[in-house]
Amino acid sequence: MKIAPLLLAGLIGGCAPAGDSSAQAVKTPSRPATAERALAIEGPRLAFPVACDIGKTCEVQNFVDRDPGPGAEDYRCGSQTYQDHGGVDIRLRDMAAQAAGVNVLAAAPGRVARLRDGVADISVKAPEAPPLAGQDCGNGVVIDHGDGWETQYCHLARGSIMVKQGDQVAAGRPIARIGLSGNTEYPHLHLSVRNAGSMVDPFAPDMAAGTCAAGAPGDGLWAPEAAKAMAYKPGAVLNAGFAATPLTMEAIEAGHINAPMLQSPMLIAYVRAINLQGGDIQKLVITAPDGAVLTEATQPALDRAKAQYMFFTGKRTPAGGWKPGSYSATYSVERAGKAAITQTFAITL
Ligand SMILES: [Zn+2]
Repeated sequence: MKIAPLLLAGLIGGCAPAGDSSAQAVKTPSRPATAERALAIEGPRLAFPVACDIGKTCEVQNFVDRDPGPGAEDYRCGSQTYQDHGGVDIRLRDMAAQAAGVNVLAAAPGRVARLRDGVADISVKAPEAPPLAGQDCGNGVVIDHGDGWETQYCHLARGSIMVKQGDQVAAGRPIARIGLSGNTEYPHLHLSVRNAGSMVDPFAPDMAAGTCAAGAPGDGLWAPEAAKAMAYKPGAVLNAGFAATPLTMEAIEAGHINAPMLQSPMLIAYVRAINLQGGDIQKLVITAPDGAVLTEATQPALDRAKAQYMFFTGKRTPAGGWKPGSYSATYSVERAGKAAITQTFAITL
């Protein structure tokens, strides 16, 4: 494949990592939400730009940082962003999903203005990762939608770009696959939207710069289905399941989990949640086929917001193995005394 290296000159951003469980910025105090209306922005309607299902095979990890200062706030005045983040990050569950191949789709009709390929797919945190050398976006595509509007797609898989400079594309057209190139440590699409060269928050394009609003609707430039898919959530479960042995974040990220069996050493239930808040209390309960609680664990209240957080609990396999049947686990997050997230999952042994 022909490599077009420096055609993305002027591409900004890309993604700093979400980091390990403790790498997220501290939530900044919300300033009064002014939400004053600037001039309404007439932009292209944007379709959901990844061939994945939010809530099943992908999640929104980060929104645009609307705080012009050293803090970070998303359009809802929440902490689902980080300092200077200039787009939306749609994250796959793990590297196994990335390896299987997930298409990135043109968000609106337009012409391919620029692209870059040839950047290695490797976590920026890997010891052998090469220097970013200004290529934070990694492999990327920019589509010109006319009237000064552009969308930019970052961290694409090397060699996966399916369009050429100058191509006309329709909305929904596959343009590449999600990769791990540039400034990222997990597979995701970073989508930036610009008008006349300036970054636009597609969730709140007409909200005054530097402001946020707790009740902002968030449909912004999105087509109705995309807005619905990416509706603001209190955090999400990215991965959940059962394992035969204790886990590491790396194993979950790789997507290689040893499934438990009747005679495995242990029965472990695990969860990796994203976008938790300071003060959140997490609980995980495993229930046996007869309905009895097998084991349960509670985490201390989080000291601050967490971009991602792994939590597992389990029990040693009794002599003679587990009784066959359906074992279930329920993960719950309590926030300010209320249930913020609840998810139940099961396995048949
Ligand atoms: Zn990003």
